[in-house]
Amino acid sequence: MENKTTSSNFIKNIVIEDLKSGNYKEIITRFPPEPNGYLHIGHAKSIILNFELADEFKGKTNLRFDDTNPTKEDIEYVESIKEDVKWLGFDWEELHFASNYFEEMYNRAVLLIKKGKAYVDDLSAEQIREHRGTLTEPGKESPFRNRSAEESLDLFERMRKGEFKDGEKVLRAKIDMASPNISMRDPIIYRIAHATHHNTGDKWCIYPMYAFAHPLEDAIEGITHSICTLEFEDLRPLYDWTIKECEMENKPKQIEFARLNLTNTVMSKRKLKQLVEENLVDGWDDPRMPTIAGLRRRGYTPEALRNFCGEVGVAKSQSIVDSQMLDHFVREDLEKKTPKVMGVINPIKVVITNYPEDQVEMLDVPYNVDIPELGSRQIPFSREIYIDSEDFMENPPKKYFRMFPGNEVRLKEAYFVKCNEIVKDEKGNIVELQCTYDPETKSGSGFTGRKVKGTIHWVSAKHAIPAEIRLYEPLILDEEDDNEKSFLEQVNPDSLQVLNGFVEPALKSAKPQDKFQFIRQGYFNVDPKNTTEDKIVFNRIVPLKSSFRIEK
Ligand code: ATP
Ligand code: MG
Repeated sequence: MENKTTSSNFIKNIVIEDLKSGNYKEIITRFPPEPNGYLHIGHAKSIILNFELADEFKGKTNLRFDDTNPTKEDIEYVESIKEDVKWLGFDWEELHFASNYFEEMYNRAVLLIKKGKAYVDDLSAEQIREHRGTLTEPGKESPFRNRSAEESLDLFERMRKGEFKDGEKVLRAKIDMASPNISMRDPIIYRIAHATHHNTGDKWCIYPMYAFAHPLEDAIEGITHSICTLEFEDLRPLYDWTIKECEMENKPKQIEFARLNLTNTVMSKRKLKQLVEENLVDGWDDPRMPTIAGLRRRGYTPEALRNFCGEVGVAKSQSIVDSQMLDHFVREDLEKKTPKVMGVINPIKVVITNYPEDQVEMLDVPYNVDIPELGSRQIPFSREIYIDSEDFMENPPKKYFRMFPGNEVRLKEAYFVKCNEIVKDEKGNIVELQCTYDPETKSGSGFTGRKVKGTIHWVSAKHAIPAEIRLYEPLILDEEDDNEKSFLEQVNPDSLQVLNGFVEPALKSAKPQDKFQFIRQGYFNVDPKNTTEDKIVFNRIVPLKSSFRIEK
C-alpha cells in the first residue's frame, strides 16, 4: 500500500533523534482504544499514525484495550475494534487489555503510599473539586493529606476488599496543591466502583483513573513513544511523575498531536452512540456514520483513508478538515480500481418505435478502458430501455443537450435516438418516451455523418436487474457544536434517499462490498447488510465530481 505519511512530521523527527541519541533502541507504539463504542475516522488517523511510524523504523505496534472503566465497556466493541484495525491493513504485535495489569497497578499504588507519595482521602468528589482551586488560585490541602502511610495502606486495602461504598474514599497522588498545572494538584488515582467489568468480572471494586493507569500500561509494555491527542498535554507532567515515582523500568515518552476534525461530522463516541440509541441511524455501521464500520459499508477503501490521513499530516495545532477532501481521496482510489457500468437510478421508460420488437443486440464493452485486466461484458440493447429522469426535460433551458422532444442524443455504446413523443397518464405524469433510432449511428461503426452534443446512459428494460439505490447527504448539517441540544438539531433529516432503479445484467453476479462506477452517477458499493438473494442494494459512496451538472 502506498504510504503517504513517509513525509516528514514532528513526531518522526523526535523518533529519529531518540534513536540517534540512544535514548531508545527500538520503536514500540500502541493504539489504545477504550472499548466503549465503535472506532471512527479520528481513530483511523491515530491507528495509521502509530502503525506507520513503528513500521518505518522497523518497530512494533501493540493493540491495547484501555478498559479501566467498568461501566461503559463491552465485548461487542472489542470485536469491532479488532476487525476495523485489520481492515485498515494493520497487524498488531501484541494484544493487551489494561485490565490484565490491575494487580500490578495496585502494587504500584501501594508503593506510592509507602513512599509517602499517595494517600487515601475521605473527602467527597464535590469537596475535592472545591479544594482544587482555579487557574489563578492555588488549591487547598485535604485534612486527610497528612495521615500516616500505615493508615492509608490499611484503608486502601479495605477499599479493595469492598468495605466502602462508591465515592466514600479515593486514593490521591500527593504532589502539589499549589502547582500552576491543576492536574498536578493531588489528582485522584483510584476510585471505588462496585460494578462488573467485562474482563475481570467482580474481582475488583476499585479502578485506577486514566491518568494514572495509562503511563503504567505504556511502561509495562515497553512502549517507547506514547502518542495521544492534544487534550492530554496538561497531563504530561503527571505521566512523567507516575513513571518516575512508581519506579517503572521502561520510560515511555508522551507526544501529543492535534486530533482530526472534519466538517459535517461528529467525532465523539458519546454522540455517535446517541445517534444509534435514538434510532436516527441504522446502527453503528450505518453508511452515513463516520465510524470505520460505516465507511466500510458505504464503500470507502482502506487505501483512501490512509492516503487521506497522509495528506492531512500530523500537526500540533487544531484545525478542521473539509470532508470533501476525504471524498476526493475516495474517488482517486476508486478511479484506479472499479469497473464502469450503467445504472439508472431514477428510471423513465423509452420505447424505440422503429427498433424490431424481438431483436436484441449484444454489445461487447470493456469494463474500464484504462484497466484492461477488468475485461469486458455484454450489454444487451433492445426496443425498450430505461434512462435516468435527470436526462430528460420536457421544456429544457438553453444549453441543455440531453433528451428533450425533437432532440437527438447518443445512447452510450449504442445508437443515436431522437425523442418524438411524450406519453402521459391522465394525471399528466410521464409514462414513457417514444423515440426513433438511426441504425447508421451505431457506436464503433465509424459513423461520422453528424454529431450530437449529449450522451446518456441507459439499460435494456427487459434485461436490467432491479436495484435499490441509496443516495447519501451529510448526516450533520452544520459544524459540530458542543451544545448537546443543537447537535441533535443539526442532524440532517434528508441524509438518506432510497430509489428504485435498474442496473445492467452483468451486475447479477456482484457480491457484497463489490464496487462500481455507475457512469455519470458516481461510485457505488453493494451493501453487505441489506442485499439479499432477491434484492441488490447499492450505496452511493461518492458522486462523480461532475454529477448532474448541466453540460456545457
Ligand atoms: P472520542 O472522544 O471520540 O470518544 P476517545 O479519545 O475517547 O475518542 P479512545 O478510545 O480513548 O477514544 O481513543 C483511542 C485513541 O484514538 C487515543 O489515542 C485517542 O487520542 C485517539 N483519537 C481519538 N479521537 C481522535 C481524533 N479525532 N483524531 C485523532 N486521534 C484520535
Ligand atoms: Mg476516551
